Amino acid sequence: MLTENALTEASIRSIFEYERSRASALFTHWEHPFSALSFNRAKRAYGHAHADGRIVLSNTFVGTSATADLEDTIRHELAHLIAGIRFKHGPRWQQVAQSLGARPRASGRSESSELQEKMSDAPFTLIAVMRDGEARTMRKVFRRARRYLDYRYGKRGQRYHIKGEFIERFEYLDHRQ
Ligand SMILES: [Zn+2]
Repeated sequence: MLTENALTEASIRSIFEYERSRASALFTHWEHPFSALSFNRAKRAYGHAHADGRIVLSNTFVGTSATADLEDTIRHELAHLIAGIRFKHGPRWQQVAQSLGARPRASGRSESSELQEKMSDAPFTLIAVMRDGEARTMRKVFRRARRYLDYRYGKRGQRYHIKGEFIERFEYLDHRQ
């Protein structure tokens, strides 16, 4: 059932265009100049960037209100085109992704951990509990990651945030019961 603010292919394309022009203003040199946006039916990954400049987004976004996830995915994939796909999620990609405002994820990890972030049929949902106690749904995932389970605001190490608001801790919803 469609909600009032449900994403459509048209609204996804306009959000994409906004993010792309923003990225173009920040980065003049793109390792893989953007060529086209298309959609696939992938349930295993939110999006994919190709060396010929294509970005493919999962049409699983259509009909949802997952705008934050969509924006994050677009920035994530644009960062691959800018930084160079061969550098995967290394420091070069991280620097670009951060400039574009992508949420920290898959940082320095293999491409496979990203693929495990399934959008459906995944047994867990990652929830970010903000510092004011508000719980925000992040995404469905295949497994619980220690970097989120062990994370707590104020502890040493990386601090996660959503648009500048720091996350207090993460929780997982377990759908297996
Ligand atoms: Zn990636």
